[in-house]
Amino acid sequence: MTQLPIEKVQPGNNIRHALGDLGPLVKSIEAVGILEPLLVVGNTSDGWTVVAGHRRLAAAKKAGLTEVPASVVNFTEAEIAEAMLIENLQREDLSPIEEAEGLFRLEELGIARKEISQRTGIPPKRIKDRVHLLDLPKPAQNLVHQGKLPIDAGLLLANEPPDVVLAMIEEEISARDIKWRLEQVRQERKNADAMETLAPRIEKLREAGVPVVDRPKSWEQPAGTGGWVEIGQGWSKLDLPVREHAKEPCAAYWLDPGSAHSPARLIPACQKKKRHSFTGDSELKIPDAEKDHAETQAKKARAAKERAKAQEREAVYSTVENLPAETIQWMVLGFAGYSDLAEAAKRLDLETADALLEYAGQSKANLRRAVVAVALATDPLGSDGWGHRAAAVKALREAIQ
Ligand SMILES: [Zn+2]
Repeated sequence: MTQLPIEKVQPGNNIRHALGDLGPLVKSIEAVGILEPLLVVGNTSDGWTVVAGHRRLAAAKKAGLTEVPASVVNFTEAEIAEAMLIENLQREDLSPIEEAEGLFRLEELGIARKEISQRTGIPPKRIKDRVHLLDLPKPAQNLVHQGKLPIDAGLLLANEPPDVVLAMIEEEISARDIKWRLEQVRQERKNADAMETLAPRIEKLREAGVPVVDRPKSWEQPAGTGGWVEIGQGWSKLDLPVREHAKEPCAAYWLDPGSAHSPARLIPACQKKKRHSFTGDSELKIPDAEKDHAETQAKKARAAKERAKAQEREAVYSTVENLPAETIQWMVLGFAGYSDLAEAAKRLDLETADALLEYAGQSKANLRRAVVAVALATDPLGSDGWGHRAAAVKALREAIQ
């Protein structure tokens, strides 16, 4: 240990921004002097540089000392820096940014993180996080240094581009809201990126005359897209191959600008679903349109046949059942020829036409039977062919049973 002239002892490149309150140390030095010698490197001609003991040197100057006790050691520059940094990193009053700068310089000296951890007692995860804080733009680093921005929030921001960080600092967003806001910013960026990627495609589509319009919100239907339908699988979508449909003149796109949960995208759509129906003019048919159509047609035909039958039956029933007895009698008498009546009489085991008329007059039931007999002998329902007539006769039979 030697006594060195204080004006020839220079502070080293210290990581600490401030030396803190030197008052008590100055008083102690004034009273008893410097008890622990400074650690310095250097020589008589160039002067000495403090490796450890910056506060003591500063306090000694304030106390008016002209000499300081020091141990001169023979360090390389890297060793000096290392020793100074390690000494300082062990202080408890370092701000996270000061700590980060010290750790960063040690890394710059080529010391592995693991070794830094062993020599300083700072866990590797904390070293990594602290150094990461230096990725923040300067104004944000200052806020962390001053304790105005929590380290957690600082670390979140350190992943972001400087403009985003600076904008958020400008807005004075609370640390609490930073996480939420960052997510929002990321999503917006994602949407913007997606839109940028889509732009050339949209331009190409529009040049080709394919409409691309903003996707309607579920509660509104902007002009021009009424009747559009999305191409794809699922409820209310048109199940057609997207690539094939893109060649159709009815091809169009909705532009979904994206939301908090999904990026912007183009949604293929069809402007005229009917083109792809069985009777539509497009070759691209809705799957099963033909089969469905045939099935529907057959079903319709069957239903029509059933209806016609029922109508015929109904007509005969109402004629026979609901007409007044006199009318039926009049029909039989008025419309059937004499030979027909005679022919009808045979069917009821009666001898003559007169006998049939007499029989018909005896009761309403007899009258009905007489009508059926006449119907079988003549063709009271017209000449629509045998099927028609047979159906009528069958219905008449049922009517009198
Ligand atoms: Zn279409």
